[in-house]
Amino acid sequence: MKQKKVYNTIGVILLFGGFLLFCGVKNLVQAKELATNSQVLEQEISTVSNEEEVDMELNRIKELVKNNKNGIAKLVNKENGLKSSYEPSDLVEPNVNSIKNNIYLSKSATNDLEKMFKEAKEEGMNLYLISGYRSSSYQAKLYSNSLIRKGKEYTQKYVSKANHSEHQTGLAVDISAKSIGYQLSQSFETTKEGKWLEKNAHKYGFILRYKKDRVEDTGYGFEPWHFRYVGYDIAKYIYENDLILEDLYK
Ligand SMILES: [Zn+2]
Repeated sequence: MKQKKVYNTIGVILLFGGFLLFCGVKNLVQAKELATNSQVLEQEISTVSNEEEVDMELNRIKELVKNNKNGIAKLVNKENGLKSSYEPSDLVEPNVNSIKNNIYLSKSATNDLEKMFKEAKEEGMNLYLISGYRSSSYQAKLYSNSLIRKGKEYTQKYVSKANHSEHQTGLAVDISAKSIGYQLSQSFETTKEGKWLEKNAHKYGFILRYKKDRVEDTGYGFEPWHFRYVGYDIAKYIYENDLILEDLYK
């Protein structure tokens, strides 16, 4: 009898232990599920807020472009031209290395250009300013000379017609280096100066305007030497999101 009682007691203990184990495992599973669910929820919330932030930043930049469409964000391309009489009222001669005198630029872009040339030099890059502001009549001469010397195909790909050059805004520059004989050629891309500009120009408000993979959209061939001033915020956004100025006018 005594032995049976012992067995019963052991049975009850085992049963109770089993029950506790079952509850523990169940709770553990529930806790795990709860944690996973809240993780998913957290991820969903952060994705939504990231998307909202991205949209807000794009809207802010588009608003900035809209507010400056007659200033630093002016869109000049094959479809959008300037009046032949258009000339920036604030042209100045930047204090940078250049191949000739009398290269002018809008004052709004000049301080940042000078800063860019100075800081490039501190990192061992010798940038040379080749071209800045061009009047409508000068651009007309460049275009007809190019037609004669280089032919229609090249000219249409690389030279703007009068009133359709960004250089007329006073906000565009052509930059080269001694190592390629101060030429405006695609080999500038491979120079240390060209590489430095591609990576750093946006920090000074400049964008590489005619990109290799957007020829169809800009209407111009790849020009690693041509940089356009749009101001720091717009330049940073364009650089980080791999865009062109036209994208911000859509
Ligand atoms: Zn240019």
